Amino acid sequence: MHLETLAIQSTHFPDENAAAVSAPIYLSTTFERGEDGSYPKNYVYSRVNNPNRQLLENSMATLEGGTHGFAFASGLAGIAAALQILQAGDHVILGDDAYFAAGVLMTEVFGPWGLTITRVDMTDLSAVRNAFQANTKLLWLETPSNPLLKITDIAALAEISHQHGALCAVDNTWATSVLQRPLELGADIVHYSTTKYFGGHSDVLGGALIVKDTQLAERLKKVQSLGGAVPSPFECWLITRGIKTMPLRVKAQSESAFTLARFLSAYPKVEQVHYPGLETHAGHEIAKRQMKSGFGGMLSFQVKGGSAEALKVANHTRLFIQATSLGGVESLIEHRRSVEGAASTSPENLLRVSVGLEHPDDLIEDLKQALEA
Ligand SMILES: *Cc1c(COP(=O)(O)O)cnc(C)c1O
Repeated sequence: MHLETLAIQSTHFPDENAAAVSAPIYLSTTFERGEDGSYPKNYVYSRVNNPNRQLLENSMATLEGGTHGFAFASGLAGIAAALQILQAGDHVILGDDAYFAAGVLMTEVFGPWGLTITRVDMTDLSAVRNAFQANTKLLWLETPSNPLLKITDIAALAEISHQHGALCAVDNTWATSVLQRPLELGADIVHYSTTKYFGGHSDVLGGALIVKDTQLAERLKKVQSLGGAVPSPFECWLITRGIKTMPLRVKAQSESAFTLARFLSAYPKVEQVHYPGLETHAGHEIAKRQMKSGFGGMLSFQVKGGSAEALKVANHTRLFIQATSLGGVESLIEHRRSVEGAASTSPENLLRVSVGLEHPDDLIEDLKQALEA
């Protein structure tokens, strides 16, 4: 089956009670036992599992080509859960251009708890090889990266990780299962902030981990149900609904982003455009190989000048909303440096753009007038 079909089919809930076409929302935190003490539908207590979460987790595992999905209350709760299967004294390798808060979580929360971290440019394979230590248990990569859209070779890094006895996890938030399926490329864990493209409407927080190994799944299930950072039934319902249109949204957003990237690359006031679809992008060949039907709805660009020139553009767009986050139907523009604060490594003239579902011609007109403002 094609992904568009799977997205509809895997999120359909066979409702035995009322034959409702749209899934009912099960708010109940507890489930009735049978006379023999058993649980006739296998649901016990909602932190451990409930029908809306089960539907979401099964759908995500199906779309990703995995065997087990685990939903969390946010993307960061998902990352934290993946780190909690490690032990104090373990070492993690993280990309130098990974989601900002992922690095902060690893150093400031898990650092004192005993995890050590090395940050490395994941596009440099020999630098990655050199970063491994005897106690390295996890390599956490993100491609396209944030906010420079660096492309990492997932298959190569999964192989290097396994040679060193470490797990390879991929934060696939920007690509989604529509464009890139890391488990098929050898990765062990796929991570999502479902707040972004899965939810797709900037109205629900969520995270997910997907795996294809039963032992790994058991470890994650334990962390999920005992850690307790689970999404509510309504949040699961919203993300499940988002999945139904995700393949179409992501394809349209990717096409528009490519159009915008081409426009910006030719624009005199723009210094550089970061988009893996462009032939001039350093990771273009790898992206062509590992991203299936598009290069994603995210791009960033550097405005000629400094912070003031970049902020001026962000302040003058009329369609693009100046806000953080990504993956919604509305286009967003953001000056990363001023959001990330003092520790930021984002160029000061860089703007990050999440392309929504508006017509690309209107978006181009909007950027043009903002660049000329
Ligand atoms: C947003 C995001 C996260 C964090 O997810 P939350 O849902 O905000 O907790 C992690 N990784 C990437 C790539 C993201 O874009």
